[in-house]
Amino acid sequence: MTRPAAVQVAPQVWRIPTIGRDLVNSFAFVDADGSVTLVDCGVAKAPPRIVAGLAAMGKRPADVTRILLTHVHPDHAGAAAEMSRRTGADVWLHEGDHPSATAGTIVQKPDQRYRLGRLFARLPEPSFEPFQPGPLLNDGDLLPVAGGLRVVHTPGHSPGHVSLLHEPTRTLITGDAMFNFRFRGLMLSPKFLCSDFVMTEKTAHRLGELEYDRAAFTHGQEMTDRPRERIRGFLTRLGSG
Ligand SMILES: [Zn+2]
Repeated sequence: MTRPAAVQVAPQVWRIPTIGRDLVNSFAFVDADGSVTLVDCGVAKAPPRIVAGLAAMGKRPADVTRILLTHVHPDHAGAAAEMSRRTGADVWLHEGDHPSATAGTIVQKPDQRYRLGRLFARLPEPSFEPFQPGPLLNDGDLLPVAGGLRVVHTPGHSPGHVSLLHEPTRTLITGDAMFNFRFRGLMLSPKFLCSDFVMTEKTAHRLGELEYDRAAFTHGQEMTDRPRERIRGFLTRLGSG
């Protein structure tokens, strides 16, 4: 099975799989001056995959000037400290996940309204190398990334979870607000992985209100055929949340 190190999703936008073909994905945006913004850093062992992905794009870690995190869970922030060291770039994230970054673990317990959530809450907390976050991402911010990257706060999976909308190419990066595994299709994050699943359901509807022609997922493969209609259809079947 071919497993490309990096997949171009749109002009200036690349997906870098860090586990499997698309089980866990990072993303990279390339600016006109050649600099790179990395989105998510995968698990602690992800850096060789990220560096290989950058190489496939003709880039090196030194080209990365910014690291953004959709949220601070070990499969997205596990290598944030290491990638920050390798690139010299700050790690930007929403303040809702700031405590988890500095603690090096998920501070907010899994949603204990659910049996698996209660079970997971009793397990040892997953840990990763802690790090000091750089600038904060705020809902509505338009970051100067590849012509304009909009921050959309979609809490629930974690308090500081954000989705990202690249306005020039109308590309949505859902983060863990929605998954699109090839064996399953569109789905919300499992309840036990959320700090507040009711809020996950509620904020997923924000993704139906945005304008985009491509949707890309931190878990799963990108969707280029009528993604907005398909996501809206999924949200309709989900109900009002
Ligand atoms: Zn995840």
